[in-house]
Amino acid sequence: MPQSPLPGVTIIDHPLVRVKVTQLRDARTGSVDFRARLNELATLMVFEATRDLATKPIRVRTPLAETEGAVLARPIVVAPILRAGLGLVEGMLDLLPDVSVAHIGMFRNEETRLPESYYFKAPAHLADADVILVDPMLATGGSATSAVGRLKDAGAKSIRFVCLVSCQAGVKQLRGAHPDVPIFTAALDPELDARAYIVPGLGDAGDRYFGTI
Ligand code: URA
Repeated sequence: MPQSPLPGVTIIDHPLVRVKVTQLRDARTGSVDFRARLNELATLMVFEATRDLATKPIRVRTPLAETEGAVLARPIVVAPILRAGLGLVEGMLDLLPDVSVAHIGMFRNEETRLPESYYFKAPAHLADADVILVDPMLATGGSATSAVGRLKDAGAKSIRFVCLVSCQAGVKQLRGAHPDVPIFTAALDPELDARAYIVPGLGDAGDRYFGTI
């Protein structure tokens, strides 16, 4: 899995990921296909982003003999940042059915221009879990930084952030604030526009996923 030149950032550039991200980027892709590709990408991304999870050995009996197998050492919590992060949950649960899903609602305070948390619900075992924080876009990094802070306040000790499209500004912000949180992204785009949209990006991921354009 290639590391990007930025420490702590892994660019998952598997050919299937690149093809599907291209389909998401295409402005002609409607909600039905956008949802399908996002689900598929979530499954591919979580496969790579969990590569280093610890396992512990168990004994298992096959029809022929007893042998050694593995189970995950720690529980997993998938934590979408509302609203667009919800689009990554279903595809991740296809691969990780036995997980808890935390929900983190963030909105931008138009006076302070800072993200604020309006909803937070996480399982009690957060401190013992590997938390996968998800949002399709890492733009300014404000929401992701706040969401990590909220998770840490609630006791989370192992957090990784998975997105599809990121940019330098967002990576710098999140890694600067939380250097212990690795970032997994499918694409690292050059810039943000004046409205804080990633360029070229893929537009508003939540609007395209939920058909609210
Ligand atoms: N959120 C999005 O959905 N798209 C962007 O480009 C930036 C933030």
